[in-house]
Amino acid sequence: MVNPNPNLTAERPTFVTHLECSMTGESYPADQLHNLSRVGKPLLVRYDLDAVRAAVPRAMIEARPTDLWRWRELLPVRHARDIVSLGEIETPLVPVARSGGPNVLVKDEGRLPTGSFKARGLVMAVSMAKALGVTKIAMPTNGNAGAALAAYATRCGIETIVLCPDDTPEINVREIAAQGGRVYRVNGLIDDCGAIVAKGAAEGLWFDFSTLKEPYRIEGKKTMGLELAAQLRWTLPDAIFYPTGGGTGLIGMWKAFAEMEALGWIGSKRPKMFAVQASGCAPIVRAFEAGEEHAERWEDASTVAAGIRVPRAVGDFLILRAVRESGGVAMAVGDPAILRAVDDCARRDGLLLCPEGGATLAAYREALRLGLVDEEESAVLFNCATGLKYPMPDASETLDRHQPIDLAAL
Ligand SMILES: *Cc1c(COP(=O)(O)O)cnc(C)c1O
Repeated sequence: MVNPNPNLTAERPTFVTHLECSMTGESYPADQLHNLSRVGKPLLVRYDLDAVRAAVPRAMIEARPTDLWRWRELLPVRHARDIVSLGEIETPLVPVARSGGPNVLVKDEGRLPTGSFKARGLVMAVSMAKALGVTKIAMPTNGNAGAALAAYATRCGIETIVLCPDDTPEINVREIAAQGGRVYRVNGLIDDCGAIVAKGAAEGLWFDFSTLKEPYRIEGKKTMGLELAAQLRWTLPDAIFYPTGGGTGLIGMWKAFAEMEALGWIGSKRPKMFAVQASGCAPIVRAFEAGEEHAERWEDASTVAAGIRVPRAVGDFLILRAVRESGGVAMAVGDPAILRAVDDCARRDGLLLCPEGGATLAAYREALRLGLVDEEESAVLFNCATGLKYPMPDASETLDRHQPIDLAAL
């Protein structure tokens, strides 16, 4: 049966013109497989925005179902037949008035397929891999990316090999295998896993799907920025707090804002972008504070927020540029503050965040204290995965149904 969502079936004109090195601006042809540019930097997808502007008025977007594929003219997939969808819905903006404040919204990305926003990036990257004839993919992951990769790749018959640190959250390791990925626990961190993946790719054994080492995950993650604008009636919040590992989402949203401005969909106002890291792994924060353009590897990285335990990011300079241009800040929060924020949000607002989402709430509170934002300003915090994927403390008690129970005391 044909999917009744016209976003998934409509044939579309596509507007991709070429890919471009994010460092040198050198141009690369579209419709071919690429990893990094010649100088080892991420490639960005470029569109004929004048043509999009002429063909796609904002009202046309508004008339469509609200899922990720409503943005198709700003996405790289050329043919509907290549879309490998699991139902990429628009995620809600949930107010957290008690734990956050009167102008704080959580964009709850845990509602996406596979329970994290990695679905946005991987649905795009896998659809493009399918379009370009890839049959085998390998990827290093802290968990959620591997799960999303396994799900989408399995769905279209692409083989996957996923390498994760041996202390990756257990549910991630198991969901990867459950969804058809071959998963290995490696005694190292994500960049150690990445080195193994790179070696196999160099030997021609598989295609390397590491963060930012293929061009299309950014395009998928970019939809967070597009969606935000549509949800806020074509305005942007005053501040965005983003838990930053590889930084795909932050880089993607920044790109989305520029594209929407070029299309005349939004004005020139930008949110202050806050790149949030954990104190136990904060290479971007260290580089930000030192005024550097690149970030050195963070040794002995450790944090409960597994998704942002990324000691080294190939897109470091893109994250740092976006944060600085926006007038934002890269800031680190400690694990105790992260866990307190998760607990507080669940207890007081009924919203269970993942630890990385907790990090954004902790950072928001710290930014308030430091006067980097004020309560009047609107802020959007990204909760990037469902809190249900992570271990929770057991606070239950037991009842013996064979004994008298003092019901009033329960
Ligand atoms: C991957 C991940 C992040 C970091 O996202 P990047 O865009 O790679 O910086 C944050 N939180 C969670 C839950 C993740 O899975």
